[in-house]
Amino acid sequence: MMSEAVAQFPIEKIRKDFPILNQEVYGRSLIYFDNAASTQKPQVVIDAISEYYSDFNSNVHRGVHYLSQKATDAFEASRETIRKHLNAEHVHEVLFTKGTTDSINLVANSLGQGLIKAGDQIIVSHLEHHSNIVPWQMLCQRTGAKLKVIPMNERGELIQEEYQKLLSSKTKLVAVNHISNALGSINPIKEMIAQAHAHGAWFLVDGAQSIPHQKVDVQDLDADFYCFSGHKVFGPTGIGVLYGKEQILEEMPPYQGGGEMIAEVRFDQTTYAGLPHKFEAGTPHIEGGIVLGKAIDYVNQIGLDEIAAYEQELLHYGTSLLKDRFPSFRLIGDAQEKTSVISFLMGDIHPYDMGVILDKLGIAVRTGHHCTQPIMQHFGIPGTMRASFAFYNTKAEIDQMADALERAQNMLS
Ligand code: PLP
Repeated sequence: MMSEAVAQFPIEKIRKDFPILNQEVYGRSLIYFDNAASTQKPQVVIDAISEYYSDFNSNVHRGVHYLSQKATDAFEASRETIRKHLNAEHVHEVLFTKGTTDSINLVANSLGQGLIKAGDQIIVSHLEHHSNIVPWQMLCQRTGAKLKVIPMNERGELIQEEYQKLLSSKTKLVAVNHISNALGSINPIKEMIAQAHAHGAWFLVDGAQSIPHQKVDVQDLDADFYCFSGHKVFGPTGIGVLYGKEQILEEMPPYQGGGEMIAEVRFDQTTYAGLPHKFEAGTPHIEGGIVLGKAIDYVNQIGLDEIAAYEQELLHYGTSLLKDRFPSFRLIGDAQEKTSVISFLMGDIHPYDMGVILDKLGIAVRTGHHCTQPIMQHFGIPGTMRASFAFYNTKAEIDQMADALERAQNMLS
């Protein structure tokens, strides 16, 4: 039975907010199920981009003139919106970056300048996106630290007993995603953070897939670092956030040098600006920063609890439908706690072939390894087809995907 919150979810109104959804591709209504890769933008976000360039485009932080002050105020107001959204204690704990990948590289590069050394250990998990593996591998190569990997079970859940065995006094940092992009598994990060802290280790949460789907409270989680990308939360590309606890950010040396991040530059010695500017060298993505705040306001107007409930309904509906209708359906990733991602295969049909036919039928799904090759290696598969739902998707669209899958299967079998 559908809950009242789901029954009252204003889906018709929401769909009208996203102009891109109202179009045909190859003569069919577009069905967009590639939300884990990037989300679509509501009109308020599109308008805010145009408003910035038509009304107050100017560089921030360094001008006394009207436009510069207006741009600076809007940029800093957005930082405050994000602070509130994450429930960070201080606004200067919110750093603007290019996105999740950039945030993780910032931490890895900064910690690599003396805070992580040979003999230290860094723990990641088998469920990570390449963005939360490769920067740590590079850091280990540079410093002589060792990378350890938390294994997962056949459902796509991290094996917590194995995690506990990996933790030791040598562990300096644990870097794990809140939600897996490839399988949708939700990791018990609050408990994992407490366990890392018991061993004196920092914890970085890759929140790229959680911020669009659920409430996050960095103080309640006690996360040391939490990062996400604007484009996955209905905002622009090229902008993202790194939250870091004040004390750690103060301890960390800057990652890049240049304008904005300095207090005073002399040829004999340069001193650095305070937080957050110490980590924001150069002209930032001003429009992106401002508009990201608007995207977050939009999500909060709908309500993250309402969004989560609606998306859970889509997930359960879609999973049961595909399981019941297709004996060949193989679900990859069946974690008990899951977000609205269905990663799957149909018999031995290559996911790419299936994805191409679905595209011609107007349905955008992602096929491949989803930047998580170790997950695919674990299951011994080349990749999956991934339908990832956002709050503007509908059960009727899932029905149409099922019909398209049947057609594609008949063509390819
Ligand atoms: N981490 C996760 C879990 C992701 O899903 C993604 C993108 O798919 C990333 C990191 C990288 O995000 P970006 O490419 O926006 O930096």
